[in-house]
Amino acid sequence: MRETPFETIKELDAYTGGPQIQCLECGQWFKSLATHLPRTHGISHNDYRQKWGIPKRFALAGTATREKLSEQMHSYIESGRLTYDHLDTAVDAARTAGRRAKTPIDKKRQSEMVASIRPGDHSKLPPGAKLADGRDAEKRREYQQQYRATKKPHD
Ligand SMILES: [Zn+2]
Repeated sequence: MRETPFETIKELDAYTGGPQIQCLECGQWFKSLATHLPRTHGISHNDYRQKWGIPKRFALAGTATREKLSEQMHSYIESGRLTYDHLDTAVDAARTAGRRAKTPIDKKRQSEMVASIRPGDHSKLPPGAKLADGRDAEKRREYQQQYRATKKPHD
């Protein structure tokens, strides 16, 4: 049984390519790890994926379960039980919904991330920095400040 996270796609294909899938926590074989992981080991699928380096696109189920679910879906579509009639309205709703407001946790995490990438005053580029088009960032800022000073403030 594995001791270290997966490192190659080939290893992952081999791990998820059989009719059954082995739980890397206890070594038992299952059709799917969907219920086994949280019930027996008390860990979420995401934690398991993170621990063993399994990307989302690899199902935590053997081929037997995946084929069965695929057949089931196809039969739902053929019988009309599953339709895509709602897609147009769902897409419209998603497009007009706007972006979710950031939670305090999101904001804190983002500011920590920015601070770790660019320590100090991260609202300004560091001295001598170049913009994406190659211009000097400081000169650009000076120019902007002068330009703004010439404009009348809004009321
Ligand atoms: Zn297990």
